[in-house]
Amino acid sequence: MLRCAVFSTKPYDRQFLDQANSESDGGHRFDYLDVPLNDRTASLAVDQDAVCAFVNDVLDAAVLETLAGQGVKVIAMRCAGFNNVDLAAAHRLDIPILRVPAYSPHAVAEHALALILGLNRHTHRAWSRVRDGNFELDGLLGFDLNGKTVGVVGTGRIGEVFCQIMQGLGCRVLAYDPYPNENCTAMGVQYRELDDLLRESDIISLHCPLSPETHHLIGAPQLRLVKHGVMIINTSRGALLNTRAMIDGLKTGRVGALGLDVYEEEADLFFENLSNKVISDDVFMRLTTFPNVLITGHQGFFTSEALANIAATTVGNLTAFDRGEALENRVIS
Ligand code: NAD
Repeated sequence: MLRCAVFSTKPYDRQFLDQANSESDGGHRFDYLDVPLNDRTASLAVDQDAVCAFVNDVLDAAVLETLAGQGVKVIAMRCAGFNNVDLAAAHRLDIPILRVPAYSPHAVAEHALALILGLNRHTHRAWSRVRDGNFELDGLLGFDLNGKTVGVVGTGRIGEVFCQIMQGLGCRVLAYDPYPNENCTAMGVQYRELDDLLRESDIISLHCPLSPETHHLIGAPQLRLVKHGVMIINTSRGALLNTRAMIDGLKTGRVGALGLDVYEEEADLFFENLSNKVISDDVFMRLTTFPNVLITGHQGFFTSEALANIAATTVGNLTAFDRGEALENRVIS
């Protein structure tokens, strides 16, 4: 049994973690904290063996040192990405970082499709028009997805499912990944160099992790290569895109549509109700003014299947650590 402080807790986290805990024989004690994990809140994890954290929690060297000093022995990320963890510091402090590498690639891939369809057929705008008694079609013109070229950057678990979906819609699918996926090649996906993918694609969708190499993978230089009016979809991590370059591209029409489930500075915004607050992020607010930008607040993972899998794997990760078993979901640092 481990005592585990769960940061950034929402009601659905409690529901699914309690359920998974009760269905397992690990019997962990979860202490739920609403606050995010950062240098101001790390001290709340007192008398804890473990910390469970999420995508926008800060696990830099200072936070990890505080946690280690308080006796925390393991971190269980309840997500796939770990770009917010200082892995070198974790290694130095001998704190294993566990994660949930796969919980539902379908959830995120299908959300990318939702953004594409929403942007292309303007369903969100049509919905508000119809509610207002406005049945005009002007401004709602879309295009057939059938026959269009889709460029997929990153063909791991989510990218592979996304390739399948887009092929099912009759698209020609191109991909870029330093490690091509045999399943994608077998289904007819054609691998290209990134620049060629950018030149040829009508829709570009990002499914690679954020790392120093992929930071601002698409910025002003890359936008000079794309087709005029390209649709760009990012359901991976915000900083894969240079947001200011996207705004410039939207202004000139080079970017014809932008679908985001993630945003570079989302940690200050997403997962909270800020509807009564003044949002001071001018870059984000500018994005919301474009008719051809559709933003969701990091909800790609948010299906009941995914949440159940995340919770079950997180509980299993903690139990494996507690019992000294092999840590198959440990991030190599
Ligand atoms: P994965 O590890 O299975 O696949 C990632 C792929 O990216 C790998 O094939 C890898 O070779 C490739 N890659 C690495 N560097 C690359 C580069 N420079 N250019 C192109 N490809 C590169 O990961 P996954 O489960 O498919 O998840 C992909 C990303 O989706 C995660 O890293 C995470 O950031 C994001 N994600 C978002 C949500 C959400 O709710 N929106 C949920 C889960 C994951």
